[in-house]
Amino acid sequence: MSEAQIIDFMRSAGAGRDDVTVGIGDDAAVVEVPAGRRLVVCVDALLADVHFPASTEAHDLGWRSLAVNLSDLAAMGAEPAWATLVLSLPEANEAWIKAFARGFSELARHYDVALIGGDTVRGPLAVTVQLLGLAAGTDCMLRSGARRGDDVWVSGSVGDAAAGLALLKGKIKADKASTEFLCRRFLRPTARVELGRQLVGIVNATIDVSDGLYTDAARLAKASNVGMILNMEDVPISPALAAVMPRNEALQMAASGGDDYELLFAASAKKRSEIQAAAASLNMSCSRIGTVTDGETVTCVLESEPWMPSHTGYEHFVAGGDH
Ligand code: ADP
Ligand code: MG
Repeated sequence: MSEAQIIDFMRSAGAGRDDVTVGIGDDAAVVEVPAGRRLVVCVDALLADVHFPASTEAHDLGWRSLAVNLSDLAAMGAEPAWATLVLSLPEANEAWIKAFARGFSELARHYDVALIGGDTVRGPLAVTVQLLGLAAGTDCMLRSGARRGDDVWVSGSVGDAAAGLALLKGKIKADKASTEFLCRRFLRPTARVELGRQLVGIVNATIDVSDGLYTDAARLAKASNVGMILNMEDVPISPALAAVMPRNEALQMAASGGDDYELLFAASAKKRSEIQAAAASLNMSCSRIGTVTDGETVTCVLESEPWMPSHTGYEHFVAGGDH
């Protein structure tokens, strides 16, 4: 396949939107931003053998490359709209590109995201998606609004994706059903876009959990200039994760593993029923796992005893920073 043929394939990936004035095919894309709305922008690079095993199926990679960005917009409470895509490919394999486009497109159409441009180069396998969206009004949820006394919440369950990655790498073993569930949580993460949008105006601070519950909780705490106590017994562990490893290991996966793409947020105790109602309306769960405190440290407690995470999340520039 030539570069032009690859671009032609990508032309049909994603949703069609009326607000795209100029899409793929010109030197740059042009979109219409409604008056009074703010543009919200994020970008994430996925490198083979850094962020996903090089053997990952193209269909899953297409999905995941968009999902990780959807999660960033979800954490801001924004509505996704347009994406650009940089594909670095070692070879132009038609079956691979078709499968990638299908995976990307499935999720893009679900969220009405148009693919409006990108770049295609020959090089080591890497996929970079930039996602643009619209803020709810002039307000966005930030990491920085948590206040002392707030509840700390997390959506869904955590630790699944790290266990899924360990399964994909053959580091641990599990029964078929658990393996399927956990690997899918890594390969096809569900960004909490609808939840994020519903939380605007209810919560004080939000972050998406991409590098592990502990690390991302610490980032939110730092941005808000507060401390936090996390009650590990309240951290939501899926039945599949609980089935494949002892409780403490599952909690370590949850605290230190990454890639869950759940939302971690802080909200006043007065908002409990609103938060539960939002979660219930989306047929999902949100769990209250801690409290915002004075100070600047995130402390984990398990049944009133101090509890330490074994790693504190992924860091590209630290020696031995293995995922
Ligand atoms: P230029 O050389 O002007 O940067 P290109 O030849 O690289 O343009 O790209 C032609 C068109 O195809 C542009 O609209 C560009 O945004 C789009 N494009 C290139 N690669 C991709 C891709 N992987 N996904 C989506 N659009 C792409
Ligand atoms: Mg040009």
